Amino acid sequence: MRFVSTGGKAPPADLETALLAGLASDGGLYIPQTVRPMAADALGALRRRPFGEVALAVLRHLLDDAVAPDVLAGAVEKAFDFPVPLVPLGERTFVLELFHGPTLAFKDFGARFMARLLGALAGSRGRPLTVLVATSGDTGGAVAHAFHGVPHTHVVVLYPEGRVSALQERQFATLGGNVQAIAVSGVFDDCQRLVKEALQDPDLARERRLTSANSINIGRLLPQITYYFFAWADLPQVGNELIISVPSGNFGNLTAGLLARQMGLPVTRFVAATNVNDVVPEYLRTGRFIPRASRPTASSAMDVGNPSNVARMLALYGHDVTRMREDVEGSSHTDAETRACIADVDRRFACVLDPHSAVGYLGLQRVLADRRGATGVFLATAHPAKFKETVEPVIGRPVPVPERLAVLLERRPSAEKIRPDLRDLKEVLRFTKSS
Ligand SMILES: *Cc1c(COP(=O)(O)O)cnc(C)c1O
Repeated sequence: MRFVSTGGKAPPADLETALLAGLASDGGLYIPQTVRPMAADALGALRRRPFGEVALAVLRHLLDDAVAPDVLAGAVEKAFDFPVPLVPLGERTFVLELFHGPTLAFKDFGARFMARLLGALAGSRGRPLTVLVATSGDTGGAVAHAFHGVPHTHVVVLYPEGRVSALQERQFATLGGNVQAIAVSGVFDDCQRLVKEALQDPDLARERRLTSANSINIGRLLPQITYYFFAWADLPQVGNELIISVPSGNFGNLTAGLLARQMGLPVTRFVAATNVNDVVPEYLRTGRFIPRASRPTASSAMDVGNPSNVARMLALYGHDVTRMREDVEGSSHTDAETRACIADVDRRFACVLDPHSAVGYLGLQRVLADRRGATGVFLATAHPAKFKETVEPVIGRPVPVPERLAVLLERRPSAEKIRPDLRDLKEVLRFTKSS
């Protein structure tokens, strides 16, 4: 299994190189060089199997011999240790709930699998790995939880002091063990710059193996392919047209779906569902991709004006919008529609959606309306309790907070404080052992 860069100038890389580098040397993003379709009988064998079994079969097919079978099986078992329910909502609509992981959002899938793979690689090299991550809030929690307790790894989360929510801070600054939180007296951009500088610093490179766990890493994308197969495998009936709607911001999630389709998953069409940050639906309509500054919305994790995974989507379709239109339809929705949708779905189905998942539902209903006989699935990407300030006024009652979030709120965060200066970061890293 080899990976090529969307930039077209970097040499093909093996999995380990792509995982440790994140970005290719020409500044492009890695995509699989070839994707082999699964044979029909192998696909059929996945029907109605448990999630772990489906995920292992899909990743084994995809990664081929890039990961030893026992390492892969261990990574799948440890990474995906939470339920993934496919729940019917009315006649021909299903919701795939991807928010039952430790940080209650679908990013747990990518972060947890990547953590296990990197841990296994570090172990086989006999040298621990230090993983740096800059966060403006949510990524830090997903990555910290993912690496917490993974042998041979040490995670350093840099965040802007006083600029993340109390809950977010507790998701990465109360774990201890191999997770270290550092509060930077600055803004998110300072944290991101410190990570870049640290990765290029010759002293640090001599002292420890460093990498970063940012969202463009192919290691976070590949595991997301698995749940598309599971959604199909768990449907009560297959054979109809299948529409899958993906609430999207940076478009990593949708890109994983497109790769699943290349692997032979019988999806008729994907819906690229967005809030008013709609550069991709606009591209599908007009054939022109025009990045612009993002606008704040109630589905804040999708407020992206220049989605990085568009480079991967364009590469997969040879920069041909006509071909992409055969597989992907765009649909964008306002906050007013989103709020009305949350109320409507709650009333009709007693199901509480978070604002991101509601955008997915809206996109699906728009496309399903023209397709009699089709089955629809939308991905629910976050638990409603994570966005209770939007959801509660709409449904008119409190959203129960799951135990693992409630427990966090009682803990005291602990972080070292530094100035936004590489010398401070090096000092802190020097006095922590990398176990
Ligand atoms: C990150 C995120 C998204 C967007 O996913 P992309 O892969 O960036 O398109 C949607 N919903 C939630 C809750 C998220 O955290």
